[in-house]
Amino acid sequence: MRTGLLATLSIQVYGDLMISAAQSRLQVVGVPVDPATFDSMLAQIEAWIARRDRVYQICTVSPEFVMIAQDDPAFMRTLREADLCVPDGVGLLLAARLLGRRLPERVTGSDGVPLIARRAAERGWRLFLLGAAPGVAERAAARLVADNPGLLVAGTYAGSPDPAEEDAILTRVNSSGADILFVAYGAPQQDLWIARNRDRLSVAVAMGVGGTFDFIAGVVPRAPRWMQRLGLEWLYRLYRQPWRWRRMLRLPRFVWAVLTRRDRALPHAEGGSAP
Ligand code: UDP
Repeated sequence: MRTGLLATLSIQVYGDLMISAAQSRLQVVGVPVDPATFDSMLAQIEAWIARRDRVYQICTVSPEFVMIAQDDPAFMRTLREADLCVPDGVGLLLAARLLGRRLPERVTGSDGVPLIARRAAERGWRLFLLGAAPGVAERAAARLVADNPGLLVAGTYAGSPDPAEEDAILTRVNSSGADILFVAYGAPQQDLWIARNRDRLSVAVAMGVGGTFDFIAGVVPRAPRWMQRLGLEWLYRLYRQPWRWRRMLRLPRFVWAVLTRRDRALPHAEGGSAP
């Protein structure tokens, strides 16, 4: 009992230290980006689950997120109110450099979810995988369990981001007893879904994960490591899914916005309730 309490306290202190030791969050064309690493994200999740006082939201911010937020005030608000905005995309690391800052590493949902699953298997946290095409979340869950024996998957469900389905989905997720909810409806739908249902969810952590289930299930191949290392994952995605070209026009607009926004170097003052 006492050991349990001590462990809980040390997890909280460790998580808090990880955050306070990190540099402050920066703002890229109005969007908050935390200088997170995979390790600090895991420590933060651990602290939140130990605390379990509300739903903490994680967003995986890419240049596309930043540009969508310019035209979508609800999405901008969601990102600003999220507890952790990890830099998912080499463009964010480059943007930080242009702002005279350094982000330690790219923290992608596709690499983060398997790492969270590994930690979850060690700690007994229960995961719920929501979203992607029918059957994909199940296949991704099976893969995660095969890689992490003992992992507890509380539930999987494709569903849809349609508000008409929300009550039924919330019942499923809440009755599953999940600690962490991954939502794969693509941006901005997944993050808006979490934000508008935050008060009705009983999980400790909710995270939008984009095409991660497709990658884990093997439905969509991920770029080879060497391309990821060179920061060319976006190019590989364009080659595999050419219909993305229109979406990717946001990338040059992103670079332009970072270079020209007058308030780009302002410190981010609000949102982000990371303890
Ligand atoms: N998706 C979904 N319902 C929707 C829209 C998207 O389940 O109404 C899923 C889609 O099947 C995919 C994920 O959301 O698994 C988003 O993938 P995408 O590659 O577009 O996201 P990104 O990683 O680019 O944010």
